[in-house]
Amino acid sequence: MKISIFGTGYVGLTQAACLAEVGHRVCCIDTDASRIAQLERGVSPIFENGLEALLQKNLAAGRLSFTTNAQQGVDFARIIFIAVGTPASEDGSADMRFVFSVADSIAARAHEQKLVINKSTSPVGTAQRIRDRILEALVQRGCNFAVQVISNPEFLKEGSAVEDCMRPERIIIGSDGECDVELIRALYKPFGRHHEKLIFMDSRSAELTKYAANSMLAAKISFINEIANLSERLGADIEMVRKGIGSDSRIGYDFIYPGCGYGGSCFPKDIQALLHSAGQVGYSAQLLEAVEDVNRRQKHKLFENIQRHYQGHLAGKTFALWGLAFKPNTDDMREAPSRVALEALLAAGTRVCAYDPEAMDEARRIYADAQHLTFADSKEAALEGAHALVIVTEWLNFRIVDFSLLRQALADRVIFDGRNLLDPVQVVGEGLGYYSIGRASGS
Ligand code: NAD
Repeated sequence: MKISIFGTGYVGLTQAACLAEVGHRVCCIDTDASRIAQLERGVSPIFENGLEALLQKNLAAGRLSFTTNAQQGVDFARIIFIAVGTPASEDGSADMRFVFSVADSIAARAHEQKLVINKSTSPVGTAQRIRDRILEALVQRGCNFAVQVISNPEFLKEGSAVEDCMRPERIIIGSDGECDVELIRALYKPFGRHHEKLIFMDSRSAELTKYAANSMLAAKISFINEIANLSERLGADIEMVRKGIGSDSRIGYDFIYPGCGYGGSCFPKDIQALLHSAGQVGYSAQLLEAVEDVNRRQKHKLFENIQRHYQGHLAGKTFALWGLAFKPNTDDMREAPSRVALEALLAAGTRVCAYDPEAMDEARRIYADAQHLTFADSKEAALEGAHALVIVTEWLNFRIVDFSLLRQALADRVIFDGRNLLDPVQVVGEGLGYYSIGRASGS
């Protein structure tokens, strides 16, 4: 099959590489010329496990092509994916500019029937809006063919995007009666080797499914963080509580890790967008409000612990900061808790030396003008000249620490752990102060 994909970000590019890998021919279109030039050379603009290898293999096989030319993209295939960003607007609503710009581009350029598949996370009613927009433009152009629009939200996780695309748990198809079911089955057949992964529903339900899934996951994180904050005050250990409740099969262990809040390009903006949609239909979504509020507060938790330890006297201190990405195995720093901690530390007059296995280029770009922020080549190098260590992202490599090096390197011998990576008894036994989340602090 021939497929066009607008948007070569985490979703569009991964989807393109996976569709090409199973034998489809895919043309990717992006407005970012430097990104397209990079992709044409087989270089992935994002870090995602296995993505660059797939990209190079399928480029060489002639199954993947890249262009900035929208006409070329529209002409290439009858199936056109929209996978552009839907960031938060000032008022919290999803900014649909990019999605509608692709829709308008298709409407202005199509010369034959098309199936438009919207993968961008979009408010309920978007598929219908795209359809109305395109059909109106086609009527104005005097065209006598139809364009079908379906919603096909994406559920991949950054860090395991290729794996998630190749082996999806489910593929949601939201169609309002006009979908060519056999065409969709054929498109996705290679991804459901053992059983069909497709779940068909109407477009509004499909759009809400995506927001509901992200809200549920965010709610689990805010819930455990709420209990962690209580744990701390009531003298309990959240890690024991986590194990205790996770063993209940109705609850499970996934997504109940306490920490310094969730970030990323999806949860924060999607919950805000759903809250905005709720407001538009006059509904007060109290649980979603609380999920957001708890998370906003939790992102300040690390800095609060630091301030508490130093009783507000932070100026002149130097902190080693391990972890910049919003989660491990990605270079994405959008809404990352590290940014809240880092910015608060710099604003308090401290120096920060940061290390992250993948996100340092992104951090250098975001903080190009920041004074008193430096970057180290390794987690050990970040400790040089530091008073204390702050751990923000749970990279596997941060779980093993050399206590004698920490004792020697950290002038104030204290660790602020935002992900509960270390054992408090062991850390304190090694002669270091230790603050974590939802457990007693010791020094
Ligand atoms: P991204 O910001 O990484 O990439 C978006 C790309 O679209 C950029 O390269 C941009 O240049 C391009 N673009 C913008 N306007 C364009 C246009 N008119 N024509 C062609 N290209 C254009 O975004 P992403 O993280 O891949 O997310 C895309 C969508 O998928 C969003 O709605 C997001 O919420 C959703 N989503 C993301 C993830 C994730 O983990 N990142 C997971 C599931 C769903």
